[in-house]
Formats: sequence, C-alpha cells, structure tokens
Amino acid sequence: MEKNISQNGAPNPRRSFLKSSGALTAGLLLGSTLKAADTFHINGSAATPAILGGDPVRRAAWTKWPIWKPETDEQRVVDVIRSGIWSRASVVTEFEKEWAAALGVKRSLAVVNGTNALVVALNQLHIKTGDEILVPPYTFIATITAVLSNGAMPVFVDIDPDTYQIDPAKLEAKITPRTKAIMPVHILGLPADMDRIMAIAKKHNLVVVEDACQAHLAEYGHKKVGTFGNAGCFSFQNSKNLAIGEGGAVVSDDDAFMDRCFSYQNYGYPYGTMAGVVGAGSTMQGTKVRLTEYQAAIGLSLLKRLDAETTARNNNAAYLKSQLGGIPGVRPYKLYDKVTRGAFHLFPFRYSEAAFKGLPREAFLKAMRAEGIPCSGGYTVLNNQLFLKDAFESKAYQNSYPKEQLNFEKYVADNRCPENEKLCKEAVWFTQNMLLGPKTDMDDIAAAIARIQKNADKIKLAAKT
Ligand SMILES: *Cc1c(COP(=O)(O)O)cnc(C)c1O
Repeated sequence: MEKNISQNGAPNPRRSFLKSSGALTAGLLLGSTLKAADTFHINGSAATPAILGGDPVRRAAWTKWPIWKPETDEQRVVDVIRSGIWSRASVVTEFEKEWAAALGVKRSLAVVNGTNALVVALNQLHIKTGDEILVPPYTFIATITAVLSNGAMPVFVDIDPDTYQIDPAKLEAKITPRTKAIMPVHILGLPADMDRIMAIAKKHNLVVVEDACQAHLAEYGHKKVGTFGNAGCFSFQNSKNLAIGEGGAVVSDDDAFMDRCFSYQNYGYPYGTMAGVVGAGSTMQGTKVRLTEYQAAIGLSLLKRLDAETTARNNNAAYLKSQLGGIPGVRPYKLYDKVTRGAFHLFPFRYSEAAFKGLPREAFLKAMRAEGIPCSGGYTVLNNQLFLKDAFESKAYQNSYPKEQLNFEKYVADNRCPENEKLCKEAVWFTQNMLLGPKTDMDDIAAAIARIQKNADKIKLAAKT
C-alpha cells in the first residue's frame, strides 16, 4: 500500500517539501512577517498552517459533483427532449426497472423527490394521525417532515455513538401501544443495524420504512439497504450519490403495496393506468408526485456509473480511515460487523477539542478550509426545533392529539438524545465527491488534519487575538 502519511500521521517528507517550498518562498517574499522559527520547520506537519499564513496543503480542485459526461450521458436526454413526451411514460418505467434491478428488489416507483417517497410509503402503509413513529435524531429534516405530513408523531430514539445510526438497544424502551413504525435512516450512507431492527419490528408487529436517501447501493450482509423493511426510500437530489437534480423512489417486494403507491402518486388512478389519462376513474384517494421523462433519462445515464463510483468511495473511505486512525483526537465512524458495503454519502469522524489543545471545532473547520479541504460540522440538533412546535400548534394536531402530548417543552424533554447532542458538537464531514479522486486526495485530507493537530496551540492562540 502506498503510504504518504507515516504512522504518527506526519506526511511523507518528499510530498510535504514540494508543498512547503511554496511556503518558504512566500515567507521570503513577506520578509519579516514570517518568523524564522516558522520557516525553519518546513517539513511535514510542522509547516506553518495555511490559516496562519503558510502554504495550503492543497490548491487543486476537488472532484466536481454531479459528474456529467456529454459523450455518454447526453444522447438519452436529448432524445427524450426531442420526442416531446415529457410527462411520465416509458423512460420513467425503464428507470424504475433499472433501479429495482440495481437493488435486487421486485418493484420500484419513481417520484418527485426523496421526501415524497417517504410521504407516499408511510401513507400507503396506513400511517395516520395518532400513530407514533420511531425515528433517529441524527438525520436530515425530511425524515421528520414525512412523519408530520401524515399527521403522525415522531418519537426520537438516540443513536449508537460509534456508528451514528439509530441504536437498536434503545428502541424497545420507546415503544407504546400507539407505536406503528420504525424508520431507520442509513445516515451518511452507513447502514443501520437491520438484523436487530427487523427482529424488534417483528416482535412488536411494527412496519419498517427505511430512509435510504443517502445510502444508494449500501449493503448489510450482502443485501442492499432499502430492501429490508416494508419499504425503502431513496433520493436523487443533486447532492446525492445518484443525482438527477430532484427525484426519489420507493422500493419494495410487496406488489399490492407498490400498486397502491403507484395509484397514490397518480391521483389514485389504478396501477398500470397511463399518466395523463383522465377517464380511468380513481379508485383511491391520491396525489400527484410523478417524475418526468427527462429526469428519468438523466437517472439512467448516471446509474451506469453508480456501482463503480460506490466502489471508489468505499476504497477511499477505508484508506482515509486507516490514515486518520493515528492522529490523536480524530475518531472515525464505525461500521456494523455485517456491513459489506457503504454508500459514503459523507465521510464522518468525531473531533476531540481536548486532543487539539482546546481548539474549538469551528476553528478547526476554518483551518481545514484554509488548507484547501472543504468540510462541515454536519447536522445540528433536530428534535428540539421549532418546526415541531409549529406542527403541534396546528389545528390538525390540536384536534387529533391529547393536549398533554402536544406540550412542546414536555415533548423536548421526553425526546432528549444525549448521544446525538454530543455527536452534533463533535462531527466533521467530508462530502462524497471528495472520495471519488485518487488516493493522494485522501493523503491531502490526512496531511491537513495532522498539520492542524501539530499546530493546534498556535492556531488557537491566533484565533483568540
Ligand atoms: C436528502 C434526504 C431526504 C430527502 O430527499 P429529497 O430528495 O431531498 O427530498 C430524506 N432523508 C434523508 C436522510 C436525506 O438525506
């Protein structure tokens, strides 16, 4: 294995010298502004951090997202545009078949976005007002939006601090006679512990809707996530690993359920009815959340690369994780033993302020960006936000729930998730596109972290003054 970072996290001197020589030149040009002590230690992590005026670890651009290759991707889309058939028709059906095949699931229904995939799935599993749905707090707001859209009550279950996923050990304590469903979210594209979740669901007769909106082609025991529960939901929003701009899908092996989902996304017209046919007669109450033909054409083009890209993300994530292991104060994610493939929509680790001489995470993120490494602190705490209060104060909720269940202060207190609160303070994320380049891109990330770690006291001091 090629190694540019030594055991203790210090970059290999050759690469670093090439990079640091720029800092030296800059130092000479700046003259007295750069102290001799800073320019003397030009090697490796001792080099001056970019945030303190040194040469950044990286100036090169990162892999752009989404990737669009006109030679191979464009014809399909142009054909659809020229055909004039833009509303849902055969290309959407083809995309659904391809997506189901990619997951090894019987059926797939394409819809406008991941949020509405979740709304449709919950609705057609008969989730309704008064039902309690077990959800993790470490997720994108859309998971909760879908629960509220169906008039149901989200009940937050704390995360496993190592995997960041909903903690199966904490599920049963939250089950009441009103509990109807578990919504595991394979957050960041790392699979949740599906064996244990499915066992608990079976024992308590609960439905399972997997939010796999970040977990395209991720696997648990060689089975694709999104195919364990009664339904799996995916997003094809622009940032997602399969990008269409907007788009989503519900998948399931249950034909009757999928027929109902199809009807629901098309005004309740019977399954198999052509979109746009007005005389079919609706058999059930529905809505309209249909994908367009040109969106499906984009999806078909990009789907061709998804498997190879997923392999690249897994390889780079494993390599980066191995490089970060040796840096004090950096604790990468853990995967459950049964996970055979991640999607790595994001690459996360926990940052320990204490191990970085008390340098706050925000200052660390800023120093990383100065080194040319984009990063973020990820989610903030979700289960105390005002959108929940707003829902509880709505007429629909006021008319349907006992007053005491809608007391926001009590709700927040009952739903506290201390592990999630800690993670929200400590997490650092890199986005999936950064995992698509060469291995040396990972070396740059590790080198930047090591450099900041070595110089944490100086950066902290400078941030204060
Ligand atoms: C993106 C996302 C959604 C919603 O998907 P959209 O296509 O953006 O509506 C739902 N859940 C999670 C976890 C997501 O990341």
